[in-house]
Amino acid sequence: MDILNLSAYNVLETEYGEHDIHIKVETKAPPFVCPHCGCVANLYKHSKRDQLVMDLPIHGKRVGLIVKRQRYKCRECNQTFWERLPVVDEKRYCTRRLVQYIERKCLKHTFTSVAEEVGMDEKTIRNIFRDYINELEAELRFETPRWLGIDEIHIIKKPRCVLSNVEEHTLLDLLQDRNKTTVVGYLSRLPNKSNVKYVAMDMWQPYRDAVKATLPNAVIVVDKFHVVRMANQAMETIRKNLRSGLTPKQRRGLMHDRFILLKRKKELDGKGFLTLDLWTKNYPDLGVAYNLKESFFDIWDCETKDEAIQMYRQWEASIPDSMRAAFEPLTRAMGNWSEEIFNYFDHRITNAYTESLNSLIRVMNRLGRGYSFEALRAKILFTEGLKKVRPPKFAKNIDEEKFGMAMIAPISGGEVLGINISTLIEMLEDGDL
Ligand SMILES: [Zn+2]
Repeated sequence: MDILNLSAYNVLETEYGEHDIHIKVETKAPPFVCPHCGCVANLYKHSKRDQLVMDLPIHGKRVGLIVKRQRYKCRECNQTFWERLPVVDEKRYCTRRLVQYIERKCLKHTFTSVAEEVGMDEKTIRNIFRDYINELEAELRFETPRWLGIDEIHIIKKPRCVLSNVEEHTLLDLLQDRNKTTVVGYLSRLPNKSNVKYVAMDMWQPYRDAVKATLPNAVIVVDKFHVVRMANQAMETIRKNLRSGLTPKQRRGLMHDRFILLKRKKELDGKGFLTLDLWTKNYPDLGVAYNLKESFFDIWDCETKDEAIQMYRQWEASIPDSMRAAFEPLTRAMGNWSEEIFNYFDHRITNAYTESLNSLIRVMNRLGRGYSFEALRAKILFTEGLKKVRPPKFAKNIDEEKFGMAMIAPISGGEVLGINISTLIEMLEDGDL
C-alpha cells in the first residue's frame, strides 16, 4: 500500500523507528531533456546519491524520504546534472506539502514545537514562515482610512506601534517598534495617502514627526483619554507625597484613598462622598488636588474649542505654587501639544473607539509567551475570519442586485477594512488565537 501518496515516486523500502520513519524512494519518470543544451533523449545515468527530504509526519512520527537521486550525463554536450525532484522544495530539502503544513502550523504553535514535530531545525522553520508572511503580506490590501489611529500596545516586553481605522474599529497593522523611521516606513507605503484626513494619536513625538513628514495635510488629534489620565497621575503624585509624611495610624485612616480619589465626583456614592469630605478637612492639599483633577476633566465637557482654551487658561492659573511640580508633566504636555489636544473639540474621537482599543490593549498584555513578535503579528493579521469587509451598497432595484451593478457602474463594497477589533478580542479571550 502506498502510504506516501506521492505519485511521482516509487517507494522502495520503509523503516519504522521509535520517533522517525525512513522511506526510501526514487523518482518514476527519468528526465527527457538536457537542461544544459536542450537536446532530447540523449542522456545516460552517471552516478547516484541518497538525499534526505523531509515530509509530512505520519502517525505522529517524523518522516524522512531518502531519495535515490540520479545524476545524468548528456551525450551531446558532455555535461552532467542531478535530476529534478518533483513536489520537493529544493531550497528547504522538504516536500512542498510539508512547507504548506509548516506555514499553517506556525500560526498556531511556536517555532520550537513545529521544529520538533516535523524533525527540522528551528531556523529553517522560521525562514519558511518568514517567506510565507512576505507572500501573504503582498496580497494584504486594507483600505486606507479617513481617520487613522496611531497608538501603542505592549507586546513581548516592548511598546509596539498599533495602526487602526478609528471609524471602522479595525486594526490595520502592528509595527515592531514606535520609532519615527518605522512609522514613516509604514505611512509612506499607504496607498491613497490623501484619504487620511485625521490622525488620532498618543502624545509621542516620533508619531507626530512621522505624520507631518508623510501626511502633511492630515489633522492630528490627541484623544482626550491620553490627556485626562495625566491629571490623575498628577493627583497620584500629590497623594503619595502626602502619605509618605504620615504615621502608620494616619495612613490607615486613608484606606482605599487611591480608589476613591480616582473616581469622578459624580461617580461617588454617599459613603465615598463622606470619606472624601473627611479627608479634605484633615488634609486640605488632598482636597485641592482632587478638585484640580476634577476641574481639569470638566474642560472636556466644553462645547467649543475657544471655550476649552479659555477654561484651560483659568485652570492653569489656579494651580497653587506648591503643586506646580506635580502637575508639571501635564502642563508641559498641554504646552507642547496644545494644537493637537484642542483639535479634539473640532474633531471628536468616539468613546467607542477609545474603549475598544483599550480592551484590546488589556487582552493583548496577557498574550505572547513563546511567540516572536513576528508570529503574533501574523496570527492577528492572517488568521481566517478576522477581516472586516465593507458590504456592497444598497441596490436601487432588485435587478441591479441580482445581476450586479457592474454593467451600469462599478460595484462599490467588498473593500477590506482591516481586522475587526471586537472579533479579535473575543478570540483572544477564548484562547482561540
Ligand atoms: Zn546536453
